[in-house]
Amino acid sequence: QDMAALVAGRVLDVPDFPQPGIVFKDLMPLFADGPAFRQVVDGIVAHHGPDSFDVVAGIEARGFVVAAAIAYATGAGVVPIRKAGKLPRAAYSASYSLEYGEATLEVHQDAFMTGQRVLLVDDVLATGGTAGAALDLIVQANGSVAGFSVLLELGFLEGRKRVAPREVHAVLTV
Ligand code: 5GP
Repeated sequence: QDMAALVAGRVLDVPDFPQPGIVFKDLMPLFADGPAFRQVVDGIVAHHGPDSFDVVAGIEARGFVVAAAIAYATGAGVVPIRKAGKLPRAAYSASYSLEYGEATLEVHQDAFMTGQRVLLVDDVLATGGTAGAALDLIVQANGSVAGFSVLLELGFLEGRKRVAPREVHAVLTV
């Protein structure tokens, strides 16, 4: 079965979460389906090539699930990109604007060896603010961005534009 259909068949629309008027895409059914999740993870690895990255960076919190699976499948390491105030040691910060207010992501300053090839992953690309900040952090911490994948892209929010000129690999775009 093709990857996009595997995701499309295992995503639930949750109206008015986390705020009225927002339809939240819940990917927990995909995570909970072992064979489907494995196939999608293997598809992401195949898209980039298993030897094209040294470490996988996942964005808190659902990105951690995807990052850990890809890392285990390929023998790469995992680096968490966390929300502000969670990391125990010296970190770089990147802030970005949300519809209301600001959010901040952080990564340990020594997370990457210089030039280490980093595959960034998350569950959903919406406006692209989160991914843009995460990509900035990888560069700030001397990593080399090898690629960026999401399970689901909300195309109408044009997150790709915010991430450009970097490429976005989305397993499914709606
Ligand atoms: P953005 O910064 O692109 O607007 O939002 C993307 C970030 O917020 C991702 O880390 C993603 O996990 C989360 N997010 C935003 N909208 C959704 C959604 O509808 N479903 C899920 N699962 N996550 C979302």
